[in-house]
Amino acid sequence: MARTRLALLGPPGAGKGTQAKRIVEAYGLLHLSTGDILRDEVARGTDLGVSARSFMDRGELVPDDLIVDMIRGRIESAASGFLLDGFPRTAPQAEALEGISSLDVVISIDLPRDEVVKRLTARRVCVDCGQIYNLAFRPPSNPETCDACGGRLIQRDDDKEDVIQNRYDVYKASTAPLIAFYRARGLLEEVDGMMGSDGVFERIQELLAG
Ligand code: AMP
Repeated sequence: MARTRLALLGPPGAGKGTQAKRIVEAYGLLHLSTGDILRDEVARGTDLGVSARSFMDRGELVPDDLIVDMIRGRIESAASGFLLDGFPRTAPQAEALEGISSLDVVISIDLPRDEVVKRLTARRVCVDCGQIYNLAFRPPSNPETCDACGGRLIQRDDDKEDVIQNRYDVYKASTAPLIAFYRARGLLEEVDGMMGSDGVFERIQELLAG
């Protein structure tokens, strides 16, 4: 595959995390999820985690300079290619990224607000391996236990409905403008998130093959 520097855009709940896992497994790229890195910093109680937590709990964005400092080295050392998941999320982040690395393609997965709320309130995540389930669309055999590793399944604090509504507003205001930014650079590919996980992944594979 010639295209090895990828970024995923899309509202919360569009399936970025799920698709990211499938893409990195299929193409051997490094998965760089700023949300996952931040949640790990919070869990370990680092200075960054303490600073980030209040923003995350409210569904607000963590300040750009903290995010760019956090991700820069990881991108620079991803020689065989990377998939950015949840970054960039603002125009200043996209501009900072241009100074760190170029991209080969930006895939935007879209999903309407009511579907976002429906999906995210039913989302569960394994505390141990990070596997994502959905009680409505991709239920685990037991609602409290991970099928993959037996870990405990939890609802993320920011998957509560009022926080989800705020995250969607933040996406529209701060991140959706990046669609035009990357379209203008000829890097944008758009995928309809309503196709479901398999349909979206097939489409992404076609895009990456083409
Ligand atoms: P996610 O798992 O991508 O939905 O991210 C969860 C939360 O982490 C977001 O609601 C933000 O508070 C924070 N976050 C993740 N990525 C970024 C980013 N690129 N810029 C600012 N905040 C971020």
